[in-house]
Amino acid sequence: MTEKTEFESHLYRTALAQLDRVAGKLQLEPDIHERLRHPRRALIVSIPVRMDDGKTQVFQGYRVHHSTVLGPTKGGLRYDLEVNLGEVTALAMLMSWKCALVGLPYGGAKGGVTCNPRAMSAREREHLTRRYTTEIMLLIGPDLDIPAPDLGTDEQTMAWMMDTYSMTQGKSVPGVVTGKPLIVGGSAGRREATGRGIVYALYQATRVLGQQLRDQKVVVQGFGNVGGVAARLLWREGCVVTGVSDVKGGIWNAKGLDIRQLEAHVAATGGVGGFPDTEPISNTQILEQPCDILIPAAIGSQLREDNADRIKATIVAEGANGPTTPEADVILRDRGVTVIPDILANAGGVIVSYFEWVQGLQYYFWRESEITSRLQEVMTRAFNRVWALATKEGVDLRTAALMEGIRRVAEGYKVRGLYP
Ligand code: GLU
Repeated sequence: MTEKTEFESHLYRTALAQLDRVAGKLQLEPDIHERLRHPRRALIVSIPVRMDDGKTQVFQGYRVHHSTVLGPTKGGLRYDLEVNLGEVTALAMLMSWKCALVGLPYGGAKGGVTCNPRAMSAREREHLTRRYTTEIMLLIGPDLDIPAPDLGTDEQTMAWMMDTYSMTQGKSVPGVVTGKPLIVGGSAGRREATGRGIVYALYQATRVLGQQLRDQKVVVQGFGNVGGVAARLLWREGCVVTGVSDVKGGIWNAKGLDIRQLEAHVAATGGVGGFPDTEPISNTQILEQPCDILIPAAIGSQLREDNADRIKATIVAEGANGPTTPEADVILRDRGVTVIPDILANAGGVIVSYFEWVQGLQYYFWRESEITSRLQEVMTRAFNRVWALATKEGVDLRTAALMEGIRRVAEGYKVRGLYP
């Protein structure tokens, strides 16, 4: 089904296969289906950076707009060694479905630079970010395309991007990125948004399954902006967080971890490893530990054909983008595991990005309580709609979420028609 293109990559193939399957279920018009399979535009840039040792290293970067039919494009920027054009394009496509699914007036985009940010100094990362921003300048802007943090990037990265863009305009342009520091127009609650959205999705999931969120045993892979926040909020809700991991490995205690103390340990030591009264555990083993809820919130392709039958959780909430391969999806579905898919589970990030963008455009900022209650409302509505569709169609939650997201984007193409 998938022809060879310059977008060739594992994740792109998966994204296309998902689109093709859902297009069949939705009985999409073939010309619209074909349009959705291609990104609107993709830019490849070279980013020369003078490294601390005085030598110049040239990095490769990308920015892809998948669809502009529902509005300006929106999506994160990732710094990772695995980044390539196909992966970025697939992630841009997923952003289109995600934004449409939760009702945001955006098309999907994604950016990336192939690099290892952990092996770079802050100065090197700043130069990389500023030069990358300059190279993709043509494609970004508050009503054109609005980047945000993703894997390997953070608030500081967004501040550098905003500053670089603003300097070329001769004025401050807060609306060009989201996920900025509060002081330069960031939004209250943006940092916690993805983790908090996961909690709202899990709250609904346990409710419809006739359970309670309280006392559920939770394992979280990834203790960054997504996993770390989800772990803390779930612990506060009365869940027992038995295992967490970061890029160096994980820790485990069957009786549960004190997340507040763990956060202090991470702040002091730079990682979860060595936290008192825990056993070390690898990033692959942690997925197979006994628990009720598993949150893969690190990188892609963690639940695969070779480990899906050993996952003990009954609910998987995808904090990362694409953590479950299609083969694993089938195994988990057949075993009765409820998988809350990425485009629903982690949509809290882009939802509060939208709030940040709106606040920035209006120079009018909301209270954190307003942001969290609106986030809860959007997540709850989206979850319930997906759950109802899954029940009606007899499909899993991923299929239902994709059906809803893709249907809306396709409808946009249909009413707008083909130019010229
Ligand atoms: N990188 C996040 C995502 O994958 C957030 C994107 C955004 O806020 O624009 O959804």
